[in-house]
Amino acid sequence: MLIVLKKDATQPQIDELMENIRKAGYSPDFLPGAQRTAIGIRGNKGYIDESELGLNDAVKEVLHVTKPYKLVSREWHPTDTVVSLKQGAKFGGNNPPELIAGPCSVENEKQVFETAEFLSKLKVKAMRGGAFKPRSSPYSFQGHGVEGLKLLRKAADKYNLSVVTELLHLEYFDQVLTHADMIQVGARNMQNFEMLQRLGKIQKPVLLKRGMAATIEEFLLAAEYILAGGNSQVVLCERGIRTFETATRNTLDLNAVAYVKEVSHLPIIVDPSHGTGRTSLVAPLSRAAIAVGAHGLIIELHKEPSKALSDGFQALNFEQFENLCRGVSRYAPT
Ligand code: PEP
Ligand code: MN
Repeated sequence: MLIVLKKDATQPQIDELMENIRKAGYSPDFLPGAQRTAIGIRGNKGYIDESELGLNDAVKEVLHVTKPYKLVSREWHPTDTVVSLKQGAKFGGNNPPELIAGPCSVENEKQVFETAEFLSKLKVKAMRGGAFKPRSSPYSFQGHGVEGLKLLRKAADKYNLSVVTELLHLEYFDQVLTHADMIQVGARNMQNFEMLQRLGKIQKPVLLKRGMAATIEEFLLAAEYILAGGNSQVVLCERGIRTFETATRNTLDLNAVAYVKEVSHLPIIVDPSHGTGRTSLVAPLSRAAIAVGAHGLIIELHKEPSKALSDGFQALNFEQFENLCRGVSRYAPT
């Protein structure tokens, strides 16, 4: 529930109201904002009867938040959240679509430095790269671990880029936190509730990917875990879901982008690399994602995709990526 306050509500009136709500057995959150000031009540088991709350003259209106996710909803927070990275990337609101690009896996020093140099020339501000890889087969390349994190950081610092990398195992929480500017939660960890709670306690941006079999509601409830812990710097990522279709690796659900923008204030970006699993489809689906209103893209990039240690079949080479970059923001809605 949201109790919206009048513009001229006085501090003693607000204090009295907060106290009345506490006495009624609820814990109120004071929510100052540019557009409106409100008091939020969440965690209630059912409908709250307003007459129990001791409302006073400070109250303009009472809104019942209908969605199971509260903090993430637009009802709770009507204006767009913008998530900024230290090196200048901005996701959300009216900012132009932001790009994150880089290899699926960190492979070696030369690869990471060449990628970083290339991205900085194109004015891309954030580099991705997996140091810990969630692979379907235990025999596939699993990533270079902490050494990979260090390489990413070194190359990113040289070219003033942000590092976006996945936290796969909680035991590496501190190392990933130290080396990353944005911590990626992969599709397979979207409902790792312990991980989400830990990320709620930090003040660093999180890139939350949608689970491959997660509904949009489950996706937003996963984000709610992070916000409920106190960290509101969350960027959502639609990366395709499992359907009956097998021609493409996943089915990129662009409905989710448009829908999430209606119901949530959080930025949402698209991963057309995992969403399609095919190099040839990355550019068309990137354009579609931007046209539907995505706040950015995360793209897998490799100098020689045929030699990549993971996901080469969906990587763009440098020339393909440069072509994509050149045109893509033209498709953004005005
Ligand atoms: C990745 O980004 O390399 C990755 C493993 O993505 P996802 O978690 O979406 O499968
Ligand atoms: Mn990948």
